[in-house]
Amino acid sequence: MCGIAAYMGRGDHFRILVELLLELQHRGQEAAGIVLFDMEAKRFVRLAGSGVVSNLLLKDSARNISIESAQGRYYGGIGHVRYATTGGYWGAVIQPIIVNTGGLNFSLAFNGTIANYRLIADEIRVKASNDSRVLGYLISELSREYRGDIVEAVRHLSEYVIGGYSLIVLTNEPRIIIARDPAGYRPLSYSLQGEDFYVASETAALEAVDAGEWSEVKSGEIISFDGFSLEKYMTGSAGTPYPCVFEYIYFSRPDSVFNGVSVYEARYRMGKELAGLINGIEVDMVVPVPDTGRIPALGLSETLGLHLEEAVIVNKYMGRGFITPPSHRSMVVRLKYNIVRNRVIGKRILLVEDSIVRGTTLNHLVSKLRYAGASKVHIGVVSPPFKYPCFMGIDIPAKNELIAGDLIPEEVARRLGADSVIYNTIEGLGKAVGLPSLCMACFTGRYAFKGLSLEDLENMVKR
Ligand code: SF4
Repeated sequence: MCGIAAYMGRGDHFRILVELLLELQHRGQEAAGIVLFDMEAKRFVRLAGSGVVSNLLLKDSARNISIESAQGRYYGGIGHVRYATTGGYWGAVIQPIIVNTGGLNFSLAFNGTIANYRLIADEIRVKASNDSRVLGYLISELSREYRGDIVEAVRHLSEYVIGGYSLIVLTNEPRIIIARDPAGYRPLSYSLQGEDFYVASETAALEAVDAGEWSEVKSGEIISFDGFSLEKYMTGSAGTPYPCVFEYIYFSRPDSVFNGVSVYEARYRMGKELAGLINGIEVDMVVPVPDTGRIPALGLSETLGLHLEEAVIVNKYMGRGFITPPSHRSMVVRLKYNIVRNRVIGKRILLVEDSIVRGTTLNHLVSKLRYAGASKVHIGVVSPPFKYPCFMGIDIPAKNELIAGDLIPEEVARRLGADSVIYNTIEGLGKAVGLPSLCMACFTGRYAFKGLSLEDLENMVKR
């Protein structure tokens, strides 16, 4: 995952970027960074560090940057919140990065995964242990090949990259270039209001900062803005879009729109689809696992005429479980949820969760609910069983770490200590989103990379 943002215009660049990144904080909590173009010194200024966006404001240099930004010293800026998919969790490259290989200098922020980054690094003869650096070097190399034309370089990226990306480049002209890969796995949206150009991974962030009417960057589209004119291009190899279904299930905010589909409405319909699969069990109440279980639980409870009870309370300060580093995951799971005991005593519960990856959270929640006095705990899962890894920007573990890898639902329920587990179907999920094509490779094992099997992709990443 990751969140990316940009701004170029007449406003206070630093403040606007901080606001956009705060609105994208749910997409990454491990690190945050901002790069601004200093018009006086004709150079990039970078502020970055581990942790959440508000940590940036505590840095010594933040005060000066903030004052200078309010005085109009910067023109053009990009930002990033990080969730690690390659390069490890801590101490790895924090974006945006600055690429200075002679000629055109630029800063890059991207959301996604370049699965074949080691192969690309070999091909273009650079040393890099992280896909963001390799992507930066590849753009630099290609722009040299196309006589300094960075848009042309970005247009040709997809001929080299196996994986998924939405990206933002800030050049030292200065100019902002934004792009989504031809499959459009990750979201990206923008708004141009007069001379003010805003970019954010999600439409909700643009709405939150009052950026005006927004548009989504199309799959395979490249947009360039130099402060005066906005130009649009399409990548040469644009094919069928395969937006990530997990953006609808978990990652994106419910108040965002992705590929013209409201995430809220898609989640609600996922709950309705799941409701059609709840047969042969008696329940007294539907209990969502907050936050992403809430909207599907609403769709499910309204469809079945069941009482919805917010009996699982979340400690929001613990962050999002899925994007928490493995070293902290068990602590987060243990401390994140608590049960309202007097609401569940003697009750038969249908717990609604967005997905089951390793099963750690649900295992803990089921035992907490039973300890609190629930008489039955069934689990309704908004996703089909997770069976395969992702190579397009989500840190889904290897097959042997996925609880549903080789197990039938009855066995998964036994391992979780639940009375039953009911998964949504792949067809139901597709119907709930309502797009003609979607990436669902983590459920089906069918990747959209022609001629590459799961084994090929795994070997490429391991290499
Ligand atoms: S494999 Fe799953 S998580 Fe990865 S892009 Fe496809 S749908 Fe999204």
